[in-house]
Amino acid sequence: MREYAGLGDAPQVISVAAESPAESAGVQVGDDILSVNGMPISQLHIQSHDTALLADQIEERLAATPEGRDVTLVLERDGQPVTVSFKGETACATRFILKTGKGLTAYSDGNNVALSGKLVDFARNADELAIFAGHELAHVVARDGKARGLGQRRAMEDRADILGADLMRCAGFDVSRGLAIWQRYNKRDWLRWLRGPSHRNVPERIRRFEAHLESAPMVCPPEVPPLAD
Ligand SMILES: [Zn+2]
Repeated sequence: MREYAGLGDAPQVISVAAESPAESAGVQVGDDILSVNGMPISQLHIQSHDTALLADQIEERLAATPEGRDVTLVLERDGQPVTVSFKGETACATRFILKTGKGLTAYSDGNNVALSGKLVDFARNADELAIFAGHELAHVVARDGKARGLGQRRAMEDRADILGADLMRCAGFDVSRGLAIWQRYNKRDWLRWLRGPSHRNVPERIRRFEAHLESAPMVCPPEVPPLAD
């Protein structure tokens, strides 16, 4: 595997966002990362209680760069060290996680969106999966926290549906096609979590999606709508 993918011991840059400060500074796909803001990766390895989370720890280091200060990376390319510095930019702070063995579910915690493997299996195409990913991402974007009571929770869920649909269509997904997953859900009574009191019933949710698609112009990136009373 290592040989096939050209991996070494160091974590590696797997993509560089187009027109990002990192690209301008010369970061390249395939660069090994030797240190982040002066902290050698080997040191992070030693301090880490779980090396499977090393990528998370590198991201935390990057995010902890003081405002206005440059990010400095020491990279290794073709066996040679390369030092780059640039102003970091937070673009999207949300990570999408695939959960195994958690039933058919999707949830978010303010930073991460989790989709279960069973949900991925249940979805027949990316548009269907995006209905759920969009809804959870909307909770993160809107910074939905703990609700004061059931009414506010319901309002947050309604908003997450609509904002999620807007995020979806801005990303190029077909919301109408994706709604088929709700139709199939509705036939499966074992999905009790969907009928919790904070969510509307499924036909009503589908109706609200469709009304929004018909009436609301597409604005990208979408505004976060205010919470309804
Ligand atoms: Zn929700």
